Amino acid sequence: METFPIVKDPTPSLRQRSREVEVSEIQTPEFQVYLDKLARTMIVEDGVGIASPQVGRNIRAIVVNMPKGPECFMNPEIVKKSEAMEASDEGCLSVPGKYGVVQRHKKVTLRALNRHGRRVQFEAKAFPAIIFQHEIDHLDGILFIDKATNIVTASNGKHI
Ligand SMILES: [Zn+2]
Repeated sequence: METFPIVKDPTPSLRQRSREVEVSEIQTPEFQVYLDKLARTMIVEDGVGIASPQVGRNIRAIVVNMPKGPECFMNPEIVKKSEAMEASDEGCLSVPGKYGVVQRHKKVTLRALNRHGRRVQFEAKAFPAIIFQHEIDHLDGILFIDKATNIVTASNGKHI
């Protein structure tokens, strides 16, 4: 299967707020193919998460590598977050070669539409919680380098 090229910083579209998607849009065969291609891109690029603006389409769709494998979420929202924070070492497919430490909420409750267009609500903690916060930031035009301290340049590390 084909994959998308990754849009890299500093591309202006990475800094835009992405638009919401409609349930009827999610349920089209074209959108389902798009989600598969987005997930495939994440896997091939060795990411643990990817947001649609990273492939040049500014819509609120993300893929997160969950314990059971990649899952797609549309219009994801954080409805509750722990006061407790955790420092995470982050990198991003759109910011190649840079890594930094970001403070994230340890636990978040998310509401989203799944790939069938059904509303889901669940809690994420530890690494998946970090991935969700990083990907939702992408939908609002925010990159981890906006929040990171101790940014270093390196050739490998995890990308979310
Ligand atoms: Zn990223």
